[in-house]
Amino acid sequence: MQVDIKNFSKDELSQFVAEIGQPKYRADQLWDWIWKKQAISFEEMSNLPLAFRNQLETSFFMVSMQADVVQYSDDGTIKARFSLRDGSKIETVLIPVPEDNRYTVCVSCQVGCSLTCSFCATGKMKRVRNLEPAEIVDQVILVNKLCEQQFGSRITNIVYMGMGEPLLAYNNVLKSIDMISSPEGLGMSPKRITVSTAGIAKMIKKLADDDVKFNLALSLHAADDQKRNEIMPINEQNDLKSLMDAIDYFYRKTRNRISYEYIALKGFNDSPQDAHKLNKLCHRFPVRINVIEYNPIEEGGFEKPDGDTVDQFARIVREAGHMITVRRSRGKDIDAACGQLANK
Ligand code: SF4
Repeated sequence: MQVDIKNFSKDELSQFVAEIGQPKYRADQLWDWIWKKQAISFEEMSNLPLAFRNQLETSFFMVSMQADVVQYSDDGTIKARFSLRDGSKIETVLIPVPEDNRYTVCVSCQVGCSLTCSFCATGKMKRVRNLEPAEIVDQVILVNKLCEQQFGSRITNIVYMGMGEPLLAYNNVLKSIDMISSPEGLGMSPKRITVSTAGIAKMIKKLADDDVKFNLALSLHAADDQKRNEIMPINEQNDLKSLMDAIDYFYRKTRNRISYEYIALKGFNDSPQDAHKLNKLCHRFPVRINVIEYNPIEEGGFEKPDGDTVDQFARIVREAGHMITVRRSRGKDIDAACGQLANK
């Protein structure tokens, strides 16, 4: 049975190369093709003998997924739907900001999601399985190729904010980040990687204990427990106090950057009182707040607030001395915006 070559460490590949009677330096060449040149087929590996490439082909596969639909938004956002080898589908989004030379890929970490956040289309699907580390890395590699073709630039940032809850696919997510950030792998700085969680206190503490180097985002979306319970059932076992304690612990141990994501929902969490409550959650550690426009989904039950309401909300938070940015949604016309990923 073929296996994914990216799941092999360099030592394991060297051992394989030795076992099939190839010289040792072939392992270095192979590694270089996989991780530095980001080859997506053995055919491309032009400095490897054909017989060796054929041997590789019988034991391994290079790419765990294929893009079966790629959609281009009017605002430059690209959404790719990938078909995995077991037939599952996931979605990955590229958000380009050429004027800032920022090209962010938003990766999925699970097929579906077991949490049922009410504003999120993925939450209406059932969780099928966690993605393998190589399946997460392949999204980065394949979307990077799209980015180079479309914008002549490599991707600059990665956010784990696509389908699934990263802290429920913990080991695979951390392994994928190792592969992406190690100098032997894709060599991207972990400072350019953000993992976003709906909020699982004990796993946030575990991140701190594991001394991770990437940034953490909390999908906050409501600043009191009652409202948060209503839209994010995970809050019932992980209330705001336990989350704030866990994030404080994370910050003190790692000093990594923290942000809150806050989807503004009309008449639900966008009032001045909500802004004041949010301010109370910003004192224990430095935090940036990103207010995101709500993107309507089927059976979502919410509407987008008007611009003035959101501006007033942001002003109250800003005047209290906190960093807050209101983000215009990207890729709405292709259902690629926050909360809209659902393999339609
Ligand atoms: S917001 Fe994230 S955690 Fe919540 S249902 Fe959607 S994918 Fe799952």
